[in-house]
Amino acid sequence: MIVTYLGHIVHIAGAPDVTGAREALATFPDGALIVDDSGVITYCGPRQDAPATGTVVDHRGSFLLPGFVDTHMHFPQTYSLDAYGGGQLLEWLDTCIFPAEARLADPVFAGRIARDFVAARIRSGTTAAMVFGSAFPDAQDALFTETERAGLRLVSGRGVQTVGPPSAAPLMTSEERAIELCAAEIDRWHGDDSSLLQVAVVPRFTLSMSTRTLAALGELYDDVRGRGVFMHSHLNENNRPGTGEIDAVKSLFSVNSYLDTYDGRFLPGSAVGGSSLLGRRTIMAHAVHCTDTELARMAETGTSIAHCPVSQQFLGSGTMPWRRTVAAGVNVAAGTDVGAGDEWLIPQVLGCAFKVHLSEPGDDAVALHPAELLFTGTLAGARALDAESRFGNFDAGKEADFVVVDPARWEPLELLLSNGIRAEDDEMARDQLLFALLLGMREPAITGVYVRGARVVAPS
Ligand SMILES: [Zn+2]
Repeated sequence: MIVTYLGHIVHIAGAPDVTGAREALATFPDGALIVDDSGVITYCGPRQDAPATGTVVDHRGSFLLPGFVDTHMHFPQTYSLDAYGGGQLLEWLDTCIFPAEARLADPVFAGRIARDFVAARIRSGTTAAMVFGSAFPDAQDALFTETERAGLRLVSGRGVQTVGPPSAAPLMTSEERAIELCAAEIDRWHGDDSSLLQVAVVPRFTLSMSTRTLAALGELYDDVRGRGVFMHSHLNENNRPGTGEIDAVKSLFSVNSYLDTYDGRFLPGSAVGGSSLLGRRTIMAHAVHCTDTELARMAETGTSIAHCPVSQQFLGSGTMPWRRTVAAGVNVAAGTDVGAGDEWLIPQVLGCAFKVHLSEPGDDAVALHPAELLFTGTLAGARALDAESRFGNFDAGKEADFVVVDPARWEPLELLLSNGIRAEDDEMARDQLLFALLLGMREPAITGVYVRGARVVAPS
């Protein structure tokens, strides 16, 4: 069935990088989005120019935006948002997170948390996501099963941990077992690029790895990279001197940089000890405190960054330097980092990004354009998932992943959009409207979520 969706359409057209997002912003206040029976977009533009075809679904009064892409979120932390008592990263993991994640060993609990995780993604319009998984295979099975039932896109992999503090013991396995479980998950759930479900190799972070594990993961990734398997981990998040994550990595491994440990150079002096885990299907979360060399290496390998400012504020991690990171040419997408991030909604992450980067010191301060924000939460995410040819905007030929945002369903947003001051200049007025839409949006305003043209339904 061919369907024409009417509404106020906003997206980033074409394939710009973030510096070209402003010019690529396309808006059609009286727009039409036509989707064919295989879920592919055949037209996006003004309603008056749209070919008359198929069924019409009238969302006038609402906005149609590309589905939000969350490039870093933790499924086992669904109930761990706003967990108090943890201090910064390493204390928070020890006190709040490892014990919470251990509860997923119970398959009944795992089934419940998987349903609630999927429901939260639907509420917040997150149509595609890179999801940090549970250590427990039954819990991962529940996550993939519930996601498939709902019809969302998912890349996920079990969280690998072979060393750690006593609180992490329930999450740890031997090196051999870790590789066995990863390989089994790939065989069970990894689909090709026509599938909504794909798998990643997911070491929690370098401090959860031995050099033997890093070497074994490199061998595994060499074997499965050709099948389109992803890689996901954390990088340069907490730099508290002496006891923080980055100093701990450098002193334990005697490497020159944190990134080296994921790049096969995890032996003392950053000597090569195995294969690199970097590439076009690799996403590193945070990257707050990178050196220029690390940023250049990520750009060179096509590795993306999941930028998680809400989480970085929650754990006191600092702020990824926007100008320097973007100037290095590395793709920066948005991540909630649920549960250190205490927002499920990608537009809230984008609003936070606006605030923290405007607050960077001196000449580093930057007022991100609303089109750059929208780009970061949609097309950059699709690029990070190496799926830009399939979704991320409304270009003809892409699969129709979109959200319907109805301001009438969230009065604070309605009041902003109806009464906010607008410039006389049309382009500035358009930008002001988009900015208010993104920052003022909350979950209740999202009234429809579509993946590949099919409406996504919450698990019951
Ligand atoms: Zn994280």
